[in-house]
Amino acid sequence: TEYSREDILRIAENENVRFIRLQFTDILGAIKNVEIPVSQLDKALDGEMMFDGSSIEGFVRLEESDMYLKPDFNTWVIFPWEHNGRRIARLICDVYDIDGNPFEGDPRSNLKRVVKEMEEMGYEGMNLGAEPEFFLFKLDKEGNPTTEPSDEGGYFDLAAMDDGEECRREISRTLEEMGFEVEMFHHENAPGQQEISFKYADAVTSSDNLQTFKLVAKTVARRYNLHATFMPKPIYGQPGSGMHYNVSLFREGKNVFYDENDEFGLSKEMRHFMAGLLMHARGYTAVCNPLVNSYKRLQSGFEAPKYIAWSGRNRSPLLRIPSTRGAATRAEVRSLDPSANPYLATAAILKAGLEGIRNETELDTPVDENIYEMTKKQRDVENIEDLPTTLYTALKALREDEVIQEALGKHIYKQFYDNKYLEWQMYSAQITEWELDEYLTQH
Ligand code: ADP
Ligand code: MG
Ligand code: MG
Ligand code: MG
Ligand code: MG
Repeated sequence: TEYSREDILRIAENENVRFIRLQFTDILGAIKNVEIPVSQLDKALDGEMMFDGSSIEGFVRLEESDMYLKPDFNTWVIFPWEHNGRRIARLICDVYDIDGNPFEGDPRSNLKRVVKEMEEMGYEGMNLGAEPEFFLFKLDKEGNPTTEPSDEGGYFDLAAMDDGEECRREISRTLEEMGFEVEMFHHENAPGQQEISFKYADAVTSSDNLQTFKLVAKTVARRYNLHATFMPKPIYGQPGSGMHYNVSLFREGKNVFYDENDEFGLSKEMRHFMAGLLMHARGYTAVCNPLVNSYKRLQSGFEAPKYIAWSGRNRSPLLRIPSTRGAATRAEVRSLDPSANPYLATAAILKAGLEGIRNETELDTPVDENIYEMTKKQRDVENIEDLPTTLYTALKALREDEVIQEALGKHIYKQFYDNKYLEWQMYSAQITEWELDEYLTQH
């Protein structure tokens, strides 16, 4: 929906909104809020609300800490739940520095910068349809999350209501109330695992939607005494949670990935875009799979890709082309997981694809056999590379990929890299249960 300043002031008054959350996202993907009483809304809409950027991990240095929040009016929404009987609305904001320039450490402003590059190449928009998966787990007596799936009991007692199913339905209903067009929700392969996919939108809106979606899932789950988690691989031996990205480029309202004269219905631009996605796959993995835990999913098989290849047929490679054509012609990137910061992941994916178009990179032939059944030798013959297998190798690949570094911009790249490298070092120093089980008595 499009809102003017006057619309927002009027709605806030009529609907008796008491507080407004000015939201933005930090480099690691966490939603940050500055909450203001409705009396300050006027000032906030003028982009005059200041906050101290140095209070946010890795955002800015102390001496440049004053930041402005400029709300995007079209993100206005009243939360369909109350806080102690009070109604609260939110506005998603861009972060500006004291001189009035977009702050280069703000992931949303950074994405807008990459979107602008796309526009300068003559495209109207990248459409992005994400399919985030997540787990619903029970809470223990103290209210802390467990890894016990929401729906375990349901197998034996058919009369018992499945809390997970009810909860998923309520998440979906709440999203619709907030203006989402939910296309589909279903139970995924693991116990307690769910997927809700909503209609594609432009790059920035889709990224906003993912952040809102996570907030809604977590908020609603609590009401059902459940915990919604976007951790990529919470249970050993079960499928992890992915977040497929469906992408296409539009110009003059038409999907430029579709070409009715091509044998497969795919345009040259789409082939180049895909070639870019394949070429930079190792480089963007750290951004799209940013946790130590992300690699436990990527390594485990199930539906998660391990190899850099594309196919129009099977679901094992990194890139798939769903069989629908016309306006729905799209590439599906299957490696991402929902722990990724959507603004950074979207910037990296878009930049990789645009780079393929800019350089007219040739697309390799598709791999239509099951890659998991090929030997290493066969894969070498077909020139099929591996995705990084750990956060460490992913960070190394990012360090070697200047295009993806550019997609993040200098400030974010440095903060992200340093932060993630530290995470890897901390993890590497841990002594795990697995090691004790394997080694303690053996050596
Ligand atoms: P899957 O078959 O992989 O499970 P889903 O139906 O769960 O696919 O999700 C498909 C996603 O692709 C939805 O978010 C949908 O809106 C989106 N989508 C459809 N057409 C396009 C397009 N042209 N560009 C980008 N995304 C699209
Ligand atoms: Mg799906
Ligand atoms: Mg599916
Ligand atoms: Mg799925
Ligand atoms: Mg999919």
